[in-house]
Amino acid sequence: MALIVQKYGGTSVGDLERIHNVAKRVAKSYDEGNDVVVVLSAMSGVTDRLIEMAHQASSKPCKREMDVLLSTGEQTTVSLMSMTLQAMGYKAESLLGFQAEIQTDNGAGKARIMRIGANRIKRLLDEKKIVVVAGFQGMDCDGNITTLGRGGSDTSAVAIAAAVNADACEIYTDVDGIYTTDPRICDKARKLERISYDEMLEMASLGAKVLQIRSVGFAKKYNVPIHVRSSFNEEEGTMVVNEDSGMEQLVVSGVTLDKNEARITVKKVPDQPGVSAKIFSPLAASGIQVDMIIQNTRSGGETDLTFTVTKTDYQEAIEITRRVAEELGGKEVLVADDIAKVSVIGVGMKNHSGVASRMFQALADENINIRLITTSEIRISCVIDERYAELAVRILHDAFSLDEL
Ligand code: ASP
Ligand code: MG
Repeated sequence: MALIVQKYGGTSVGDLERIHNVAKRVAKSYDEGNDVVVVLSAMSGVTDRLIEMAHQASSKPCKREMDVLLSTGEQTTVSLMSMTLQAMGYKAESLLGFQAEIQTDNGAGKARIMRIGANRIKRLLDEKKIVVVAGFQGMDCDGNITTLGRGGSDTSAVAIAAAVNADACEIYTDVDGIYTTDPRICDKARKLERISYDEMLEMASLGAKVLQIRSVGFAKKYNVPIHVRSSFNEEEGTMVVNEDSGMEQLVVSGVTLDKNEARITVKKVPDQPGVSAKIFSPLAASGIQVDMIIQNTRSGGETDLTFTVTKTDYQEAIEITRRVAEELGGKEVLVADDIAKVSVIGVGMKNHSGVASRMFQALADENINIRLITTSEIRISCVIDERYAELAVRILHDAFSLDEL
């Protein structure tokens, strides 16, 4: 007998028939003798529709009311799930975030979980009930409803699993695990049996949108193994776990693609102390995150500075950069949003050399020009022209033999 947290995403609970199918899965696990806590998202599309309606009601909906509104999507699914289970003859009870004592900070719209008083969940489990908790929501210290940011039900599930000390945290979704790369781009993509938290963190932030990135950070901190799997079949998915020595034997575990960045270059800025600070401080002050930065030293005490930002921040970043460039003496600003970032990721990089050169050579063999490069301990990223993006992914997948076990 085990204590299992099962989280089901929006497509898995997208209509009553699917809710019924999920209920059967939950019931099966319960019948096997497990204690089960179910965490649910809203039906797919619902959160988007609520956001749309809010913007129809007001051009600038206030954050507090937005959270009151958005949390209703999950309220619908947990009640329906509970009713469905009851109709099947099971004892079930739904809990909203505040009832499950999910305490967050007051960061409306992207609140952070501070504490979970798991007593009520545990009491219901002691009564042999299936507990169905609304994901994505909590309550701040003033009693306001908060939400955890898009995709936040994953984080709810992992946090609850940590709080109740669950034996397993299963995240059921519409894909059957984490792949070496996006199967829609590369038909040789292969499902990974296991991946480390750190690799997953790199993949999530680089656009492999299977898990909310914050949930992986949480899982790492509290050492909660996550099993990502499909709610539409019985197959084993991918385990997201602590790194172990077996993982390091693989040089690279995955290739990711991110088309969500754009590039800005300031030409011929003075190569002097303080210049980077002048350019990046106003960007930071406006909440714009800069991802990659590269500085080329040129002759004559001048340098070109290139960086990338997300496409959503791009226009604002251009305006700010142009203003600073003026202040620096009318320096030219070049911009491009037809770029893509391809990355190879793997904890094995720590112990294998030559990964970067293999990546660069593979791209060079196809005549793909690399415009920017960044690395971390377990990742190498190259910015290339967007038109080669998919090709680059396939080439790199081959170059690191990711289709072979
Ligand atoms: N319903 C929320 C969203 O669509 C939270 C979630 O699904 O995890 O972002
Ligand atoms: Mg999700």
